[in-house]
Amino acid sequence: MKFIARILFGVDMSAGILIYTFFSVIYGVSFDPIILLFSIFCSFLPDSDFVPYLVLKRRMGLVSHWFFYHHPLLVIPSIAVAGWFSSNIWDADKYIMFIAVSGVTTHFIHDSWNVVGLHWLSPFSWKRYSLEKGLHRVSDEAVRLYYNDVLKISSIQSVQDEFGVRIEKLSTGSFILFGVAVVSLLVFTLFWFVEKHLVPRPPPGPSSGA
Ligand SMILES: [Zn+2]
Repeated sequence: MKFIARILFGVDMSAGILIYTFFSVIYGVSFDPIILLFSIFCSFLPDSDFVPYLVLKRRMGLVSHWFFYHHPLLVIPSIAVAGWFSSNIWDADKYIMFIAVSGVTTHFIHDSWNVVGLHWLSPFSWKRYSLEKGLHRVSDEAVRLYYNDVLKISSIQSVQDEFGVRIEKLSTGSFILFGVAVVSLLVFTLFWFVEKHLVPRPPPGPSSGA
């Protein structure tokens, strides 16, 4: 239960809601729950590598699921190219593409916000860069200490143990961010509803050709 709460009120969820609201306002589009869910999906998307990680970790001796899809240098341009071609095929504007690219990029920035950072140049380089306390390169020793001593990887036995160490704990900051995201979504939805349903439309005038 506590893991579900960490996901529901966590930073990735808030980012998905905020990104959806931001681009909907910029593009002046109607409220669409499907696009909202798509935005939330994109901000979680890189973590779907948790599934192959759980299946293959013993066989491959892995200590992190980031081995699979946490490659910003490959994933971000791939999503951008896929979004670009999709929007051209369906003759849509780039609204959806911006939501998808922003979702995965924000996810990677969030992943960099801890002591061990993220390998932004992988799979070409596994050097890690952290944004916590300013952008800096993380030493190999700090990474080793983190996985061996902080996460105590060797003591992880079950899937529940995995969730316990991998899913970020909630903080005051994450609750505030969630509150900001929900309020901005509600304000956008309210404006959209009032504009669509309550503002009277002028009656249709005589057609210019008549
Ligand atoms: Zn991640």
